[in-house]
Amino acid sequence: MLDELFSIWPHVIAMAGICLTAAFTIWNGGGSYAAPAVTVALAHLLFRWAGGQWYYRRAKRQNPTFWMNFFIISALTSGTAWGASITLLLRGTSPSDRYLILTIACVIIQSATARAFMAPLPLIGQTCILIVQIVGVSLYHGDWIIAPAAILFAGFQLGHMRSLIRFRLRQLQVEAEKDALLQEIARTNEELRLANERLQKTALTDVLTGLFNRRALDRYMEANDPRQNAELLPYSVILFDVDHFKPFNDTYGHQAGDACLAAIGAALRAMPLPPGHMVARYGGEEFVMILPRTDAAAALTLAETIREKLSTLEIPVPEASARITVSLGVSSFGPGSTDTPLRLVRRADTALYRAKQLGRNRVEQEDAAATTIDA
Ligand code: GH3
Ligand code: MG
Ligand code: MG
Repeated sequence: MLDELFSIWPHVIAMAGICLTAAFTIWNGGGSYAAPAVTVALAHLLFRWAGGQWYYRRAKRQNPTFWMNFFIISALTSGTAWGASITLLLRGTSPSDRYLILTIACVIIQSATARAFMAPLPLIGQTCILIVQIVGVSLYHGDWIIAPAAILFAGFQLGHMRSLIRFRLRQLQVEAEKDALLQEIARTNEELRLANERLQKTALTDVLTGLFNRRALDRYMEANDPRQNAELLPYSVILFDVDHFKPFNDTYGHQAGDACLAAIGAALRAMPLPPGHMVARYGGEEFVMILPRTDAAAALTLAETIREKLSTLEIPVPEASARITVSLGVSSFGPGSTDTPLRLVRRADTALYRAKQLGRNRVEQEDAAATTIDA
């Protein structure tokens, strides 16, 4: 808005009008004050031009309040300068020329009216200063037509300004309402995004253990398939199952069984695990850990750490605490493998089955010939 208020064009047009009128009054044999009138107008035009240049060059570095104050001073200076220029022209001219001068004054007032909605007070002040000077000099010369005509025109323009200002205020109000609505939409969108995120997380999380669920596991294996991305190799899987969980449930009750699964979930979540891993509840009391960029040796070590850690867990059961053990199966493939993560899980399941058969509470690797860590 300030950019428009500092535009030089309304002043250039007013200057052209004053020059033409001055030339006309001289042509008609009058216009004894035409030269000072043009000089005042020109000095004012230069002032507004210099002010405008200053604004366009420095506006970004100073705050808008400074420039609004500067505009108010400029607008009041304009009212004084145009008023002085026009009153000088009115002096020493014939009555018929005065009507032409009044027309130019009206054009200047009209130009201020058109922009009044942007800065009402300075532009109304500018118009008033101009009118007071024209009316004053007209009455001084005993001209009883110009003065009321100027007042009438100014009154009409003030009414017009009022309508423009009201229109502008309504526009600002609508803009503010629109901004508030946009903010509301942005806030609702953000809430929706967060709700979606929560929903997605819930859909992929096992409620009891807080670990990922089977669906999340399937997605993960699809997105982290070493056949598509060889950088994920070597790749390992640990599958493990709580030993004798049915008797645990039978002894302590199903709720204690649930508390046991929740404690296992919390313990696994608290464990420092390799980056990029995923741990999920595979179903019932079985858990799976997928370990990209992890070789068989590291996976075996980790499996043993899990076994030890879970065997020390204090499970809250009615009036006491209990312990559990787990059996683990580990499978891996190294560089150059074209196998799928799902096949690897199946191989880990075979190793887990062997761990159960060999007495439970132990880690078994997929290949019987490979390293076995006994409990
Ligand atoms: P093994 O050492 O061979 O694994 O014996 P197990 O008793 O653990 O195996 P089995 O498959 O016979 O029993 C698994 C039990 O796990 C049976 C089922 O009631 C229990 N279970 C499965 N899911 C849940 C659950 O969400 N909460 C509770 N409390 N128990 C569960
Ligand atoms: Mg079991
Ligand atoms: Mg089982």
